[in-house]
Amino acid sequence: MQITIRNLTKGFGLTPVLKSVSLDIRDGELFFLLGPSGCGKTTLLRLVAGFYPPDSGEILFGDRCVNDVPPHRRNTGMVFQNYALWPHMTVAQNVEYGLDVRRVPTAERGQRVREALAMVRMEELASRSPNQLSGGQQQRVALARALVIRPDALLLDEPLSNLDARLRLEMRDEIRRLHAELKLTTVYVTHDQKEALSLADRMAVLQGGVVEQLGDPRTVYRRPASRFVADFIGESNWVEGEVLSSDVTGVRIRTRLGEFLSSPRAGLLPAVPVWVGFRPEALHPTEVRLNAFEGELRQTNYLGEIEEYVLSAGTQVFKCFVQNPERALPPGTLLTVGVRPDDLLVLPRIA
Ligand code: ATP
Repeated sequence: MQITIRNLTKGFGLTPVLKSVSLDIRDGELFFLLGPSGCGKTTLLRLVAGFYPPDSGEILFGDRCVNDVPPHRRNTGMVFQNYALWPHMTVAQNVEYGLDVRRVPTAERGQRVREALAMVRMEELASRSPNQLSGGQQQRVALARALVIRPDALLLDEPLSNLDARLRLEMRDEIRRLHAELKLTTVYVTHDQKEALSLADRMAVLQGGVVEQLGDPRTVYRRPASRFVADFIGESNWVEGEVLSSDVTGVRIRTRLGEFLSSPRAGLLPAVPVWVGFRPEALHPTEVRLNAFEGELRQTNYLGEIEEYVLSAGTQVFKCFVQNPERALPPGTLLTVGVRPDDLLVLPRIA
C-alpha cells in the first residue's frame, strides 16, 4: 500500500513540530524517517498511525484519505521501542491480543498466531511469558503481534534502540529478511544512521520538522543536500572554497589547501562560495599531489581493520581512515592525502 503525506502540519500548543511535510512512500518500500532527537519523526509516524490528528494536510493510504479514520481502522501494525508487551500474558496470548481487538473468529486465531510466530522464528517459545525472554526475543514478539493482523503497513518506532549492539545487528538482518519475504510497506523511525543506511530503500532526513533530503542511502551519504545532512549521516572534514569553473568535466574549486576537482555537480557557477567536504574514508595517503593536500600526523588510533589518522593542515585538523593498516607511523610524519573527484562533497556556502 502506498502512503502519501501532503503538506502535513502539526504542533503541540504553540510549538510547531511538523512544517508542511510532503512524502510519497511507495508500495512495498522499507522507508526510513531519520533525524536527531526532537526533529518530529515520531510525531510523523504517530500521525500516520492515527494517534494524533494533523493540524492541516492529508494522509492517504492508497487513494483514500485517512485523516478521519481512527487508528484501529487503519490496519497498520505498530512496533514500539519498549516492546509494550503485556507481562501477565504468554507470548502467544500477546500476539493473539491484536486479533481479539479486531474480533477475528476464535477458530482462526490459533493458526494465525502460529504463522506470525513462525515469521519471527519464535514458535518454540509461544508459552513463555515476556519476562522469560531476552530483549531481542521480546522485540520479535512485538513484531509478530504487529504482523498477525496482516497489516497494510508496518510502522516501527525505534524498534532496536533498547537492544545491545550485537542484537541490534542480528535484528537488522531479521527485519531485512521479513521485509524481503512480506514486501510490506514499512515506515521505520530511527536516529541511528547506520540502521537507516543498511536497511532503507529510501529515507527522509528530517530536521526541525522539515524534510531536508529524501533519497536512497547512497545518494544521501554521497550527495548530501546540506551540511546538516552530511554531518548527520556520517563524518566529514570541511574547508571553505570558491568555484573556479564548472562544466561537464567537473567542478574546479580553490581552497586554502590548494585546488580540488570534483565530478560534475549541478548548480555551481564560478565564484560561488562552497564548502568542500572530505569523508575520512575518502581521504587516502598518496604520492601524487593531485586533488590532495599535505598534513602533519598528530595522532593515530589503531582499530585493526582500519587506522584513524588525525592530521593537521594549517589551523585545522582532518580525520582520515586507512584501510588494512600495516606499519605504524610516528606522530609528526608529513603525509599527503588525496581524494577521488567523485568522493568530494561540495555544497553551496550560504554566508
Ligand atoms: P526522539 O528521537 O527524541 O523521539 P523525535 O524526532 O521522534 O525525537 P518527536 O517525538 O516527534 O521527535 O517530538 C518532536 C517535538 O514535539 C519535541 O520537541 C517534543 O518535545 C514535542 N512533542 C512530541 N509529542 C508531544 C506531545 N504529545 N505534547 C507536547 N509536545 C510533544
